[in-house]
Amino acid sequence: MICETDKKSAAVLYADQNRSTLGTQGRIAQILGDTAVLTRTIKRLEAVVGLNDILVFCPSEQEPLITELTEGTRATVCGLAQEVPVSKAIRKRKWSLRGWRGGLGASTQFDELPFTAEMVQILQERQIEVVISIAPEAVVVDPKLLSELLAHHKRNDETMRFTFSQTAPGLAGCVYRLDLVNNLVQVGEAVGALLTYKPESPEQDLVNHECTLRVAQELCTSPYRYLADTAREMEAMEAIAKALDQMEHDDQEQDETDTATEGSWGHDACRAIEVMAQEKEATERLPREIDIEINTERSLRIVDYPHSQLAGTREAMDIELFSKIVDDCSAYDDICLTIGGFGEPLAHRDLIGMIERAKSAGIFGINIETDGRLLEGELAEQLLAADIDVISVHLDADSAALYQQLKGENCFERVVNNIETFTAKAKAEGKITIVPHMVKMRATMAEMESFYDRWITICGAAVLTGFSDYAGQIADKAVMDMSPPNRWACERLSKRMTILADGTVCVCDQDFACKHVIGNVTQQSVEDIWRSKQWEQLRKEHASGVYSSCELCGKCRDWHRA
Ligand code: SF4
Repeated sequence: MICETDKKSAAVLYADQNRSTLGTQGRIAQILGDTAVLTRTIKRLEAVVGLNDILVFCPSEQEPLITELTEGTRATVCGLAQEVPVSKAIRKRKWSLRGWRGGLGASTQFDELPFTAEMVQILQERQIEVVISIAPEAVVVDPKLLSELLAHHKRNDETMRFTFSQTAPGLAGCVYRLDLVNNLVQVGEAVGALLTYKPESPEQDLVNHECTLRVAQELCTSPYRYLADTAREMEAMEAIAKALDQMEHDDQEQDETDTATEGSWGHDACRAIEVMAQEKEATERLPREIDIEINTERSLRIVDYPHSQLAGTREAMDIELFSKIVDDCSAYDDICLTIGGFGEPLAHRDLIGMIERAKSAGIFGINIETDGRLLEGELAEQLLAADIDVISVHLDADSAALYQQLKGENCFERVVNNIETFTAKAKAEGKITIVPHMVKMRATMAEMESFYDRWITICGAAVLTGFSDYAGQIADKAVMDMSPPNRWACERLSKRMTILADGTVCVCDQDFACKHVIGNVTQQSVEDIWRSKQWEQLRKEHASGVYSSCELCGKCRDWHRA
């Protein structure tokens, strides 16, 4: 027999007017439609069935403002004496904000939301035992979906200490037993740690357990983020909130004339997904990711790849051009930069200055792609102190012999030592994640498993990428063709821009020979190029199933890898 727990429950939010949950500009007091972001979120939570309390934690000095924003609702404001830091999971999530999980180290959207010992103590004092964690920017969270999530949790309370669904970020939340939250706070971990693959104790993925509420497929596959926590998403939320308000108004009028219709749970979420899809048909003003090559010094990649042949073919980018590019991006606060391209960025003398310049221009995430040979000494210390998130090291082997065979040089031990030394220091400071990469190809198959398990254990993240034949431009050494049978529009065209050291913007990172040039940032702004007729035309062709107008796209087998 299934018994529902009658434990006291609360939705818990942490609201800070100075910063968002992601650490970007705070937007809880901004008006969306005719209501402030935080107020809108709380009003949606008030409709959750079975929820006893709504607690809004905030810095103690902000209590008057937060109280004003929650006036007329049934939320209780609790000022906190101690500072609540931005979740350390955010650094791992920056390139995956639109998925419920998929960040480095299998981090999830739930890990973005902070809990502290002070919050747990207050919740215990209020005798709350079941907690729904919600971002204050969740302006379109679905109350019916949350009601079902809470009911599902209550039915499984004895066996599962948390309950979640795989919906797109912002449409639902995660329900915890408070004893689990307390345990996580004590060990300094987030719930994503329970969903991670651990080589020493492999377990079935929890998405197949009772702790997962099954929801409609469209709620899980929507490739967007439904939170008003960045300038880009705020623009989308304006449109969605307006449409939902209108639909709710129409529903109310309908209910007055008809008998009240019971909406199915996930109803609002489905509506939000529909509106978002229409909204995102138009190209956003700026790309979400920019790959930038700052030099073409030789980077040690597998010999088949073009990096060796391109060594020295372009002058290094100067800091003035780099600054112009990052300044061009200042309208959005969620842009992630990958510094790499076909060169070795650690060999650029202005790398540290460029990182500082990018951060001061408001760039959200920074990843550096390197062969790892120079990740040592003073430069390593400078990088540790710099505000970067990820260093991707293209190691590609788990033995010195394979490394020599793939790269033609004997640097395996040096690079491994650099990764281990850097990671030990970075972990102690809770900063940068080093991510060793390996290309999956016939030659690396025998070492793939040991490579992955070794680096997952040491670094908490490792990436295996399929071999790329650079859209038919080099010999194919892939184990097999991984492209799905039915093709769809390449997401890179609407997500990522590739800029080479001389300012050339080519169609994507496959275009090492600049066969399909779109523009040049020395003469045009990033926005003008991103929304240029040429690029829009290519996007339209992809959307209608035409791929051959660009020679590379026609032959590409990497189109399904965003
Ligand atoms: S289809 Fe291939 S070549 Fe074309 S933009 Fe996408 S990744 Fe690049």
